[in-house]
Amino acid sequence: MNIMTIIGARPQFIKAAAVSRAIRAYNESNTTQIEEKIIHTGQHFDANMSKIFFSELDIPQADYNLAIAGLAHGAMTGRMMEGIESILKQEQPDIVLVYGDTNSTLAGALTAKKMHIKVAHVEAGLRSFNMAMPEEINRILTDRISELLFCPTDIAVQNLQKEGFDLMDNQVIKCGDVMQDAALFYKQRAQAIILKDIPEKFILVTVHRAENTDNIKRLKQIVQAFNELSKTINIVMPLHPRTKKIIEENKLVINFQTIDPVGYLEMLSLLEKCKFVMTDSGGLQKEAFFFEKNCITLRDETEWRELVDNGYNILAGADKNTIVDSVNSIANMNYNFSMDLYGNGSAADNIVRVLME
Ligand code: UDP
Repeated sequence: MNIMTIIGARPQFIKAAAVSRAIRAYNESNTTQIEEKIIHTGQHFDANMSKIFFSELDIPQADYNLAIAGLAHGAMTGRMMEGIESILKQEQPDIVLVYGDTNSTLAGALTAKKMHIKVAHVEAGLRSFNMAMPEEINRILTDRISELLFCPTDIAVQNLQKEGFDLMDNQVIKCGDVMQDAALFYKQRAQAIILKDIPEKFILVTVHRAENTDNIKRLKQIVQAFNELSKTINIVMPLHPRTKKIIEENKLVINFQTIDPVGYLEMLSLLEKCKFVMTDSGGLQKEAFFFEKNCITLRDETEWRELVDNGYNILAGADKNTIVDSVNSIANMNYNFSMDLYGNGSAADNIVRVLME
């Protein structure tokens, strides 16, 4: 069985690391072998947004690197498709594996489908129901053309059922969340990380979604909320390059601690030590839960609704006062993190088993 994995952005490296480990484990205990090759589209290319993940997480070196970054959506997706097409023509994989909701996901799925190669989508069925988000468009289209839809949650499965996937010629599988696998496995390694210049008590925050960074009103409100909060509690923000650029261009005043983007192990260590999390990241909302921390989400909706429904996560949007008020109500949130929302860390093994069936 030949698999072509297509990844390009930070969260995809983490998800693919979990599945690559499961593939290696499968190969060690079976005579039938899976050969995995990797295309890195280049969507994220900085050392601390890409290279560090390959080295820290033991992801095999990418067999192909398309180096496509920094373009508008159409140009980026189009050029990725062109590059992926010529590789798939040469490699003729049995299946193309795509992750999440980025332009790399859609480019990989669409190219493979048009070449009659099976597509497997990991993190299928997630919906924000906000069609203004590029990620939502990528998810919906990728799901529709995938043969194997690997869903992390019950809600993801239900979303697909509501869209009529029961009547379509594909397979919807609830396998659990590969980010849970990654967090459980790499947590041990993160113990060795020594955090430098990080205060003892702090809120861990990240902001990078286009809906917040490309809307300067929203970004200003979020930054003002952080400035206000940092008068009483430390804030530590690993700063995404896109957010950094917009903050600098607009000369926004920052009165809290920002650091360069960190590797995954350092991030896990920050998650372990922080008081709680404030973010617009999809992955980080779940990781807060994995590390038994509450989360205030700087968005108007979330794909990870089970976290909100069960009181672990508050949707605060991007209004300064609402964000500050949410922090005041953090004591009333759910602190019993024993619920099984994302599986027991065997999502990647489940995926490999289904791929081999
Ligand atoms: N992350 C990281 N270093 C950072 C910021 C985030 O390793 O400086 C990790 C984070 O822990 C999570 C993933 O990157 O596993 C989430 O990526 P991102 O927020 O870029 O994307 P999203 O999850 O919103 O798609």
